[in-house]
Amino acid sequence: MTKVLIATDKPFSPVAVNGIRNIIEGAGFELALLEKYTDVKDFYAAVTDVDALIVRSDKVTKEVIDAASKLKIVVRAGAGYDNLDLDACTAKRIVAMNTPGQNSNAVAELALGFMIYMARTCFTPATGSELSGKRLGIHAYGNVGRLVAQKAKALGMDIIAFDPFIPAEAITKDGVKVAKNLEELYSNSDYLSLHIPATAETKESINYNFLSLMPKGACLVNTARKEVINEADMEKILAERTDLKYITDIAAGNNDALMAFAPRYFATPKKMGAQTSEANVNAGLAAANQIVDFIKNGVTKFKVNK
Ligand code: NAD
Repeated sequence: MTKVLIATDKPFSPVAVNGIRNIIEGAGFELALLEKYTDVKDFYAAVTDVDALIVRSDKVTKEVIDAASKLKIVVRAGAGYDNLDLDACTAKRIVAMNTPGQNSNAVAELALGFMIYMARTCFTPATGSELSGKRLGIHAYGNVGRLVAQKAKALGMDIIAFDPFIPAEAITKDGVKVAKNLEELYSNSDYLSLHIPATAETKESINYNFLSLMPKGACLVNTARKEVINEADMEKILAERTDLKYITDIAAGNNDALMAFAPRYFATPKKMGAQTSEANVNAGLAAANQIVDFIKNGVTKFKVNK
């Protein structure tokens, strides 16, 4: 019988697990569960006889892939898939997928919440400011970036975006301006909301050059990944420019140093972007459906490896 494993260090909600179980068992497959594991060896042991694997932020390393001799498909329930070793999957002809769009609304709402929190001086008694009329730059106009634009528009923000992989017309039709390059984007953003994936190209790409272009009092909002920030440059510019602010979903690697700049710096204690019951269920069910579709019908629509 086809065996599907959910391996989650940070578990899905019980509602999501029940929904996944209904889909997997409804397809005639068996479901196994490994939750809150503290030793990666438990993960290696659990994958030995499974055909399919669902993970959240869990790292699917070459060691995991090597231990999973029957594995045919791994699905990351979420958008970013930088926790999957794609080369290791490809080498073993394992299909790797994500579940794009399933948690975008949750992340977009957090990005807006971050902006309001910073505009209101982290709810300290100091006088804050309003988002209406401010310029918002969106770095990457994918599922999350697009939703942030839509919601920010309702708040009266003036929006500009940069995404070299999206046709300009697909951005301007939303009433959003298109930046020619990153220089134009960063220098015209009172708030800059980051939505680039963490790739070899984007890692540490948000550096001193771009940050120094941001206007007086600007705020960088990061609900993407901490890895895309050059953290040493961030520390340098927050020290030099006492007007700049940075809010991030998951503490920076140099969090202790950056905490010296609070309340201009704020980090969530753990990644919260997709941490809503709705996103949890959406991504979990999508992962289960994609596995069933792949095993039964060979559908590889959301495949992310070669
Ligand atoms: P998506 O795949 O829908 O969109 C990503 C966009 O980035 C695409 O439009 C793509 O064209 C663009 N892009 C890729 N490389 C780029 C580059 N070098 N410069 C500019 N644009 C580039 O993904 P999404 O759902 O919008 O999510 C975006 C990122 O947010 C994910 O990759 C993930 O890392 C992160 N994320 C975080 C959380 C969280 O919990 N905080 C949850 C979901 C996603």
